[in-house]
Amino acid sequence: MISPEWIENNREQLEGKKVLMYCTGGIRCEKFGGWMKEKGFEDVGQLHGGIVTYGKDDEVQGELWDGQLYVFDERISVPVNRKEHVVVGRDYFDGEPCERYVNCANPECNKQILCSEENEHKYMRGCTHECRISPRNLYIQEHHLTEEDIKARLDRIEAEDGVVQE
Ligand SMILES: [Zn+2]
Repeated sequence: MISPEWIENNREQLEGKKVLMYCTGGIRCEKFGGWMKEKGFEDVGQLHGGIVTYGKDDEVQGELWDGQLYVFDERISVPVNRKEHVVVGRDYFDGEPCERYVNCANPECNKQILCSEENEHKYMRGCTHECRISPRNLYIQEHHLTEEDIKARLDRIEAEDGVVQE
């Protein structure tokens, strides 16, 4: 994330150059561009209306954007590129292309990760072994897993991933 402090610390990299900025809806760039001009950067441009407008534009249709756009509401991420869909995200567990967000089932962790449905079941939606065996694991509660069920899942992870988990 670019901040005023970062700009000041990297001033020599930017000085005399054309600076182009983009953000989700164009508002942060509007403010930040104004601040940069005040600080003496002359050639500062921005993507007007932000990435959202870039995706909605009938001519460009967001075509140079790869992946989804992360948003801070219940949608979590939205598509931008209407010409070609390029998956950028990778599954937290196996590194396969993935755009499915879940939160770790341990409420004390709640880490947001990308994970296929298959891996969600395999790992009981836990980002680590500790999160998987947490007594508060929500996945275990939702799926009414018994002690034997949990043991079977952990054994499978150990067998397939080749790691001993204690
Ligand atoms: Zn976790």
